[in-house]
Amino acid sequence: MAFTPLTKASLIIATCCLGFGQESYRHYKKCPRPVDQCLQTIVSSYMETAWDGLRVDGVSSSDPVRVVEIEPGSPCIAEGFKVDDILVELNGVPMQTWTNQDLIQAMKSLKVGTVVTYTVQRGDRTFHKQVKMASPPTDLVALWVGNHFIQHHYKKSDVGL
Ligand SMILES: [Zn+2]
Repeated sequence: MAFTPLTKASLIIATCCLGFGQESYRHYKKCPRPVDQCLQTIVSSYMETAWDGLRVDGVSSSDPVRVVEIEPGSPCIAEGFKVDDILVELNGVPMQTWTNQDLIQAMKSLKVGTVVTYTVQRGDRTFHKQVKMASPPTDLVALWVGNHFIQHHYKKSDVGL
């Protein structure tokens, strides 16, 4: 079976969600779903997101894809990843030229329980690490869900209380 460059995108999605949280809700399109229906849908969707706990930079740039944060309790913490590790390949596919879109595609293709292999460069050493994708912790899911509702459902009241 051929895994495409799909793996470590999970982080990026998380990173994007967190990043968006910094911006004004006004920039976001209103979610078309009723709140209760949306809650059921997005919680189950986020809970099934494959998560390895890496956050990276260098995507969509000429810089190497570099680990900038590893979330506590994540598979990548357990596997001994370190900040500043360079991710060279995912399942043998070079990551250097990946765009954000590549990452998102990769992310979506992974499932909880899937084992992926990163080629990692640390200093002058290059080695492989296998990581089994996990479900994100509930506090992280809660953050993503909260961001969604603030950005896509919340409306600032225009009448005084
Ligand atoms: Zn919604």
